[in-house]
Amino acid sequence: MRFNVLTIFPGLIDYYAGESIIKRAIAANKAEVKAVNIRDFTTDKHLCVDDYPFGGGPGMVLKVQPIHDALMSLKAEAATGHVVLLSPGGRLFTQAVAEELAHSEKSLTLICGRYEGVDERVVEFAHEEMSIGDYVLTGGELAALVIIDAVCRLLPGVLGDERSKEEESFTSGLLDYPHYTRPAEFMGMKVPEVLIGGNHRLIQNWRQREALRKTLLHKPNMVNYAELTEADREIIEQLKEEMTDEFFIGT
Ligand code: SAM
Repeated sequence: MRFNVLTIFPGLIDYYAGESIIKRAIAANKAEVKAVNIRDFTTDKHLCVDDYPFGGGPGMVLKVQPIHDALMSLKAEAATGHVVLLSPGGRLFTQAVAEELAHSEKSLTLICGRYEGVDERVVEFAHEEMSIGDYVLTGGELAALVIIDAVCRLLPGVLGDERSKEEESFTSGLLDYPHYTRPAEFMGMKVPEVLIGGNHRLIQNWRQREALRKTLLHKPNMVNYAELTEADREIIEQLKEEMTDEFFIGT
């Protein structure tokens, strides 16, 4: 999958893409990340990407023309694919959206705003606006990297062990179960006995129970939408009885 990022700070994108999972995905030809410097498409001698807002007010606004021309340069390569403008007011990016993008798109172009944002006319060139959460970042680069990272690890063959993503939080409809590694005891804190015993059925049962417990505690709403077996429902009833009322206050 090809990811294009329109930004005035391409180094931020190149740096992150040069490490870990994304680096490996690129090396294995599963992904391509191209940071496009919006400044390369300015037409004035000062290479100005921003200007004062019409009507006054604080801050600067990224100009429409360099962003448009940067997009057109990708269109010329037939490489834009799905175009997303990163914006705090956009569709919320979730694991389900990551799956949707990973399975339906060959290319994704992410436009990063800065300062007060982009000239509103840029919205016309995007298929949609997307937000990574209800807070305001300084620029769209972190949001672009969050999206690239989450989508990239869903592409076939990117993760070393494909089972990792099947068992992860949100994929199964539940939060992930707790993980432990050596040592078996640290500062008096012991790893649950069952994980050391080697009985795979018991380990599987423990993990499912703990995934249900974690979800009930931290994201109880998810349980309403998860695909649950009859056994899961029984465990949930037991867990609810075990948990004190205070856990459910405010949920
Ligand atoms: N004035 C804008 C507002 O109040 O909505 C905020 C602009 S923000 C400082 C600059 C840029 O960061 C935005 O144009 C957008 O590209 C990016 N950004 C900020 N928060 C974001 C979020 N939660 N999700 C996605 N992008 C975000």
